[in-house]
Amino acid sequence: KIRVRFAPSPTGYLHIGGARTALFNWLFAKKHNGQLILRIEDTDTERLKEDSVSQILSSLRWLGIDWDEGPEKGGDFGPYFQSQRQEYYTKAAQRLIQENKAYHCFCSAEELEEERQKQRKEGMPFRYQGKCRNLSPEEVQDRLKQGIPSVIRMKVPNSGQVVVEDLIRGTVSFNAKQFDDFIIAKSDGTPAYNFACVVDDHAMQISHVIRAEEHLSNTPKQCLIYQALGYEIPLFAHLSMILAPDRSKLSKRHGATAVGEFQEMGCLPEALVNYLTLLGWSPVELESELISPAQTISAFSLEKVSKNAAVYDVQKLIWLNGQYMTTCDLDRLTLQAIPFFIRAGLINNIDAEDNRDYIRDVVNTVRERVRTIGELTEGSRYYFQDVVSYDEKGREKYFVKQEGVAALLTKGRNCLNTVEQFDVENVESAYRQLMSELEIKGGIIIHPTRLALTGQTVSPGIFDVMALLGKKKCLERLDKAIE
Ligand code: GLU
Repeated sequence: KIRVRFAPSPTGYLHIGGARTALFNWLFAKKHNGQLILRIEDTDTERLKEDSVSQILSSLRWLGIDWDEGPEKGGDFGPYFQSQRQEYYTKAAQRLIQENKAYHCFCSAEELEEERQKQRKEGMPFRYQGKCRNLSPEEVQDRLKQGIPSVIRMKVPNSGQVVVEDLIRGTVSFNAKQFDDFIIAKSDGTPAYNFACVVDDHAMQISHVIRAEEHLSNTPKQCLIYQALGYEIPLFAHLSMILAPDRSKLSKRHGATAVGEFQEMGCLPEALVNYLTLLGWSPVELESELISPAQTISAFSLEKVSKNAAVYDVQKLIWLNGQYMTTCDLDRLTLQAIPFFIRAGLINNIDAEDNRDYIRDVVNTVRERVRTIGELTEGSRYYFQDVVSYDEKGREKYFVKQEGVAALLTKGRNCLNTVEQFDVENVESAYRQLMSELEIKGGIIIHPTRLALTGQTVSPGIFDVMALLGKKKCLERLDKAIE
């Protein structure tokens, strides 16, 4: 039975990297009719951020990544918040102590610091020297009774290999000697990440651990814990890093990386999912870069996930979003655009209901030329509001420098005034007839007309714009430009 999990720490928003991990787990679960478990790793109380859990859940939902067990969903293996699972960790740690596979360490922070300094002078990276490893049971009891604080450390064998079988990377071996007796429980009893992770992955019957490459160095430690607890080790798949275009570590300065930011910019979730899908995974033959979740699920396999770092390119994501903007269902896009239009003051809630057809037509006309709903909103402004100013360069070129422009626009206005049924075909043929009567090229009249009607030098096809704006607005705006 395939059971995978996404296990975010609620320390902030869901970012591209986490979203990709969640997505690949989701794809893998779907592919194999398995289950995706969402587990919140919230034991490190110092790093917790308020609202982070709800932000993460809402970003996952927005992306369409649903989970079978976890917060707000429940399931047979809960609770799904690590902060509510303390008894599991305590029990497992106690068992390891009884079996002499782990021990209490009473070394104080000062002692450890001294040790660290000493090792640093010798040019060594710090490793705990095992001072408390062989305390007698009596000594331990004694110190516990005295209330001396202690952590719990693993007794790590100091020879042999720890072998991690990774479905993406193949066999990766680590020398056990490189690990010291690492901490599995802190002095307040709360578990260290590696320990909680193993206890939970076992308790939740996880079959495959699919997570970011940055955790690969934790995996051998987790394997040691699995072995000590006598648990079967799950299969691992570590997803390659995601780097910035300059191959440095991805950070804020590389632009938007939080899922919520893309939502605010007016990206479509399906475009982001498509983009993330291709971030480190590619099926053998890909005819187009537009690939639906259903197609991905059927082609998905961890073996085809790349070992090499993926490069994050926000421009490509925005381009892909533009592709989705033009091909997605118009009604759905309209529904998504409405809150943006309201926020930008283009329409109010009543318009949103009463003028739905007009709004849909605007969206349909403008969407061909824009890449996000944010751009769609800006590009739709003149359909809802009067033109109050003109593009500066355009004004200079067409209204100031072009000779006889006022007379020309007057002719255009009068020509439109004769059109009875104000649709695309009729306005176009009327304007074309005027052009041929005047023996002028289209641009001579179309550019200033566009500026008059939209305030911009670029727009969708001018006759589409005219028809959609309607006769009254067209005449008003031409009049105003002629003034
Ligand atoms: N809480 C860890 C993180 O957010 C999860 C690591 C794991 O998947 O094991 O990075």
